Amino acid sequence: MSNPNWKRVVIKVGSALISPNQQGCSSHYLLSIAQFIVRCRANGTQVVLVSSGSVAAGAHLFPELEKSDIAIKKAMAAAGQTEMIATWDRLFDFPSAQILLTHADLRDRERYVSIRETIFSLLDNGVLPIVNENDTVTTDKLKVGDNDNLSAMVASAAEADALIICSDIDGLYDKNPHEHDDATLLKTVDNIDASIYAMAGGAVKGGVGTGGMRTKIEAAEKAVSHGIDTYIINGFTELSFNMLLNGENPGTHFKPHAKPMQENVHWMRHTSNAQGEVIVEGDFDAQLDSDAEQLTSSEIVDVKGEFSVGDTILVRKEDGTKLVKAKSNYSSCLLNFIANQENEEFANEFEEKTGPIISDQHIANLEKE
Ligand code: GLU
Repeated sequence: MSNPNWKRVVIKVGSALISPNQQGCSSHYLLSIAQFIVRCRANGTQVVLVSSGSVAAGAHLFPELEKSDIAIKKAMAAAGQTEMIATWDRLFDFPSAQILLTHADLRDRERYVSIRETIFSLLDNGVLPIVNENDTVTTDKLKVGDNDNLSAMVASAAEADALIICSDIDGLYDKNPHEHDDATLLKTVDNIDASIYAMAGGAVKGGVGTGGMRTKIEAAEKAVSHGIDTYIINGFTELSFNMLLNGENPGTHFKPHAKPMQENVHWMRHTSNAQGEVIVEGDFDAQLDSDAEQLTSSEIVDVKGEFSVGDTILVRKEDGTKLVKAKSNYSSCLLNFIANQENEEFANEFEEKTGPIISDQHIANLEKE
C-alpha cells in the first residue's frame, strides 16, 4: 500500500469510468480499480468505494425521452443503480453493500452517526461499502449534487486516512491542459487557497458526470481539514493504481492539515448546512466556540430563513463576517419573537427559562479560518 499506516481509504470513481459511452456499464476501466481494491484489502487496508454511474448506466433504457427532464433522470438513476452495483459485485469475490445517501441524511446528526456505524460494521465484517447519492429521492435542496463532495463527506464519516479521487486527467494542472500545451501538473498541494481554485477553473467539465476539477478541489479541501491525505489521480490508467500500491504519488497529493478538526466540528463545518441565519451587532465579539451561551437575544439584529429547533444556523455580523455555524436551540419563529421584544427584562427571563440560543455542541468557528 502506498502508505503502510493507512488503515482505511475511500476511493471515488466517476460515471465516465463506469459507463464510458452511456450504453450500460462496462468493466473495461473498472478492472484495474477492482484490482487495486483487492490488493488494498489483502494488505489490511479497509476500502470504501464511492461510485457514480447510475444515471449514465440507466440512460440507454430511456432512449426516446428527454434526458434533461428531472423525473426521467431519477428513473435513469433508479434503473442504472442496480446495473452499476451488479457490475461492481461481479468483479469481487467478497460481498459488497449498497449505501444510498442524500445530503439530508448526512446533515442530520442522528442519521449521520447511524451511517458511520453502518460503514464501520460493514468494514469490520469484510464487506465492501459502495456509496452513491440517492438520486431518486432527492430534490436540489436535499442533495449533495456531486460525488466528489459526497466522497469527502463519506471519508470524514468513515474516519479514512486517505481519499483517492479518480479523474480523467492526471491531477491538478496550473492551467487547463486541454487548452495549454505548457500546463504543468502540481504534484503536491500544501494549502488549498483561491489560487488553487483558480487553477481548477469552472464547475462542470461536461460529459457524463456531474463534477469537474472544481468539485474535486472542494472535496480535497473538506478532506484535508479532517486530516485525510487526498489524491486526484487519472482513473483511466492502470499505472496510477500500481503507483499508489508502490507508495508513489501518481497525480496530485493534497497534504492533510497538521491539526485536523475534531470529527463533530468538521461535520458542522463541512457537512451540515445552515437552514437560516442570525445576524448579530457589529461589535459582538463573544467567543462563541468556547461559550455558546454568550449569544443572547439583545445582540440579535435580524433572523433570516425558517428553521426549527436543532437545525444548523449561521451566525454572522451585520457587515457579513461569518462567525460560527451552530445548532439552534430555538426555532426561527421563537427567535424572531424574542429578538424583537421591546421589554428586555421579559426577554432575559424568557431566555433564562428556555436556555441558551445556540447549543454548545459541534460549534464550527468560521472566523479563525
Ligand atoms: N449520483 C450520480 C450518478 O450516480 C453521479 C453524480 C456525479 O457524477 O458526481 O449518476
